[in-house]
Amino acid sequence: MCTMRHRIVWMILVAVPLALITVAAGTAAAFPAARHIASAYWNMPDRLPALAGNSLVHFEPGAEDYAQDVSALLPAAIARIEAAQGRPFAHPVTVGVYATPEAYAAANASGVAGVVGVTAFGRVVLSPALNWPQHRRLPAILTHELSHAHLQGWMSTSAVIHVPNWFKEGLAVMVSGGGGAEFVDEQEARAAIERGERIVINDTGSFWNLSGVPFERAPAGATPSHQIVMAYRQAGMFVTWLHDSDAPGFARMMNAILDGRPFVEAVTAGYRQDVRSLWQKFAQSDAGGK
Ligand SMILES: [Zn+2]
Repeated sequence: MCTMRHRIVWMILVAVPLALITVAAGTAAAFPAARHIASAYWNMPDRLPALAGNSLVHFEPGAEDYAQDVSALLPAAIARIEAAQGRPFAHPVTVGVYATPEAYAAANASGVAGVVGVTAFGRVVLSPALNWPQHRRLPAILTHELSHAHLQGWMSTSAVIHVPNWFKEGLAVMVSGGGGAEFVDEQEARAAIERGERIVINDTGSFWNLSGVPFERAPAGATPSHQIVMAYRQAGMFVTWLHDSDAPGFARMMNAILDGRPFVEAVTAGYRQDVRSLWQKFAQSDAGGK
């Protein structure tokens, strides 16, 4: 576990864009520089003080009230993840909240302060922007990141990386009630799908793209940041359709994924068809645009 390469592989970075506000966020985290990952490793939130009432929530001095808010939200968020993803957490998840953009940037593994939440090394790291001015997004972003942390708790790093990003992000958007996709609504996403501006539905993820969700054809005229949010919204709608169209099938698939089985096998275990056929059905359904 000591080589840098191993550390990089070990680390899973999942970024939620700030969207619309910072241009840089759009390109932030598709492939973080090794120095940012190393910085995040040396600045894991475990080193910060923890709340007296909840030792899992760590805070930069000055963010104690923010930490209290997170602590109050955690039980409901955890219950929601465990119900939707079909298992309890493999182990408790540490959450770190930050008072300053500088300390947050050092810990968030992308090196960019404009990403509001990240799950790295199994820890959820939250931006000062979720305390102010984006406090309203806090419950959904916290839940979104906990979805990623839940997978990371059960699965090996390699297995997590090989789950396609559209599924991981779509799952996190679904279970958080839209966290990370707040700035694109379903109607806008459906219209884009009908125009052919739809995400790539692949059946494996890659180390070379830890968080991006690419398009078949990118939405015309959209900023990089808006494209990311559009991709998350489409992914969330598709995963929601998978869940709602066959809940027992979804549970079988989820169980196989958490067992670390290849995504192709997991989809087959759930639905007895491949994921592209399922996307076609989704796209032709009311949920997908027709
Ligand atoms: Zn995410």
